[in-house]
Amino acid sequence: MSSLDPVFSPCSVAVVGASTRRDSIGFALLHNLVLSEFQGAVYPVNPGARVIHSLRAYPKVTAIPDPVDLAVILVPRAAVAGVVADCVEHGVRGLVVISAGFAETGAEGAAQEKALREQVRVAGIRMIGPNCMGVINTDPEIRLNATFAPVPARRGSIGFVSQSGALGVAILNVAEELGIGLTQFVSIGNKADVSGNDLLEYWEHDEATRLVCMYLESFGNPRRFTEIAKRVSRKKPILIVKSGRTAAGARAASSHTGAIAGTDVTVSAFLEQCGVLRADTIDELFDMARALDRCPLPRGKRVAIVTNAGGPAIMATDSCVNLGLEMADLGAATRERLGQLLPPQASLENPVDMIASAAETEYRESVGAVLGDPGVDLVLAIFVTPLLVHPMDVMEAIAEAARGSDKPVLCVIMATEEFYEVVRARTDLPPVYRFPESAAKALAQLARYAAWRRTPVDPEIPRFEVDDEAVAGVLARTEDGYLPEGDALRLLELYGIPVVRWREATSRREALAAAEEIGYPVVLKASAEGLVHKSDAGAVALDLRDGDEVAEALDSMTASLVAAGQPPSEWLLQEMARGGHEVIFGISTDPRFGPLLMFGLGGRYVEVFRDVRFGVTPLAATEARQMVRGIRGFPLLEGVRGDAPADTERLEEILLRIAQLAQSHPRVRELDINPFLAAPRGGKSRALDVRVRVSRE
Ligand code: ADP
Ligand code: MG
Repeated sequence: MSSLDPVFSPCSVAVVGASTRRDSIGFALLHNLVLSEFQGAVYPVNPGARVIHSLRAYPKVTAIPDPVDLAVILVPRAAVAGVVADCVEHGVRGLVVISAGFAETGAEGAAQEKALREQVRVAGIRMIGPNCMGVINTDPEIRLNATFAPVPARRGSIGFVSQSGALGVAILNVAEELGIGLTQFVSIGNKADVSGNDLLEYWEHDEATRLVCMYLESFGNPRRFTEIAKRVSRKKPILIVKSGRTAAGARAASSHTGAIAGTDVTVSAFLEQCGVLRADTIDELFDMARALDRCPLPRGKRVAIVTNAGGPAIMATDSCVNLGLEMADLGAATRERLGQLLPPQASLENPVDMIASAAETEYRESVGAVLGDPGVDLVLAIFVTPLLVHPMDVMEAIAEAARGSDKPVLCVIMATEEFYEVVRARTDLPPVYRFPESAAKALAQLARYAAWRRTPVDPEIPRFEVDDEAVAGVLARTEDGYLPEGDALRLLELYGIPVVRWREATSRREALAAAEEIGYPVVLKASAEGLVHKSDAGAVALDLRDGDEVAEALDSMTASLVAAGQPPSEWLLQEMARGGHEVIFGISTDPRFGPLLMFGLGGRYVEVFRDVRFGVTPLAATEARQMVRGIRGFPLLEGVRGDAPADTERLEEILLRIAQLAQSHPRVRELDINPFLAAPRGGKSRALDVRVRVSRE
């Protein structure tokens, strides 16, 4: 039993605001209820009509002689509260409020919406909306279509929730066009009561729903979403189109991490960490959904392609490799089998090009052969229609080969519209795509989701011994803003993150003494009020070999900083570090999602190359590993052209320490260690520069 049962599976529905006017949504909704053959009773409510759509109408909900489970409300905003009061009085258990004019219109509407939420919460009933398009339940025992959308929905296994009502109609259209079936469809509108999270939990326990698809514009409660999604995506895939991918952009921030990590990146990192698959468009979402709905999960990411034409196979190969899949090496036995079957001009390597003469038999046997190869995890069959071969026959042959296998088979069939008309109606066939790129994306998501399902449920979150009291003491010295350089370095040391040898100085004399103590060559850096990127302002002097060079650098730095209106307040002397690769570690804080971690290639060009990966807390050891190994430049760290490989395990450990710092000290809003010098194994890896911004709370 779920609190949403009265909404999805009512025995009776009242339509408040039903209308006799054919072009009104009050008529369209009633019409849909009747047309979908709703299995319960329908009661139109309208004080001005005796009969609507051949149904006896009532002046108000309390006048209905029978119990009502669900009321769909379409009256103007001003009348909603009164109608809801009637519903409560009559014992209605679920509401769908289509009426608009609430929070989406401004402050006054928002206040009305708040009052509405109070009203239903006090009464203990659930409400979808307001400002929504309605709900559909295709369960043959219910057959509820309480929307005003002009498109029917067919039975299937996908639960779909849309935050946008207008897009909801488009979604139903595309689903129908592609022959995709749904369990329930919910337009949640302003989410005053029932949220996307509630629906996720509903579908978690709904056996008919094998896949959840979401179109979202915002996360009401991102922390709760990730918690629920993490759990649900272990059982069934969750696919999401989160709009506003580029619009969010990068927030104005002076740290590298903050500049690179826009809200959208944060959203992606969170979704990835809870196993949710993200699509850019509704089309892409459905491409992925068809594969996840119909195919078994692959054991790995090695793809075999079987084709009758070279061009599309090359495109497919490129797409697959770009998306992180691997091209399978076919075993000798497989190649031998293919050799016996195919003409001498055929290519027996992956992609297997059977050439244009290939027909049903070749497809059935070749797809069967690669499916039988232990080195193959996923299969893509491509067919470009030549004159004499019928695409539907080939399709059936591929389906036959796929049926006996526990590996996914996807098809690209380049054929006429008539072919697609037929295929659409058939849910027993492997998913078919028009173009190699969309099939490759679907393959990649299958592999990603399968990999997520294989990750341990309770991953190990390492805990490091840290003197957190001492850390809090250092942080307490700055109320709001950037920590002084010395404190920032101390913070790292307290967290077990190695730092290059350093000393602070407040005068020329102290600076020279500090340089002696460290030992030449040294590095001199100036601190000044408001100075963030030191080297841009000429406040970093490297490789100073003796006292004279230090004195000279200090004088010229002072002169130029004074001229720029930023007189130096303090000096930092450091050992001149050499060797290794410059990497960056960072923390930035999203106001809604919380801390976001970053790792990547560092140095001065970090914002140009943006070769970084993100993660969220709590960070598991495996996730730290994926972040470090996931950057494009990872081969550089492993050593190219005779370079010694960097100590990447040490980098993973430091990332985990930073994750713990972010989690234990929420006052740290931003942190940039740039550069961190990643030395070869056995060498001295250490931070050369760090910037930390704290906030009051
Ligand atoms: P900022 O980032 O504020 O401009 P940094 O302290 O990062 O200043 O210094 C700029 C660059 O100088 C670094 O990216 C690094 O390449 C180099 N550098 C800084 N400190 C050292 C050091 N102790 N040893 C060697 N090189 C250093
Ligand atoms: Mg720096």
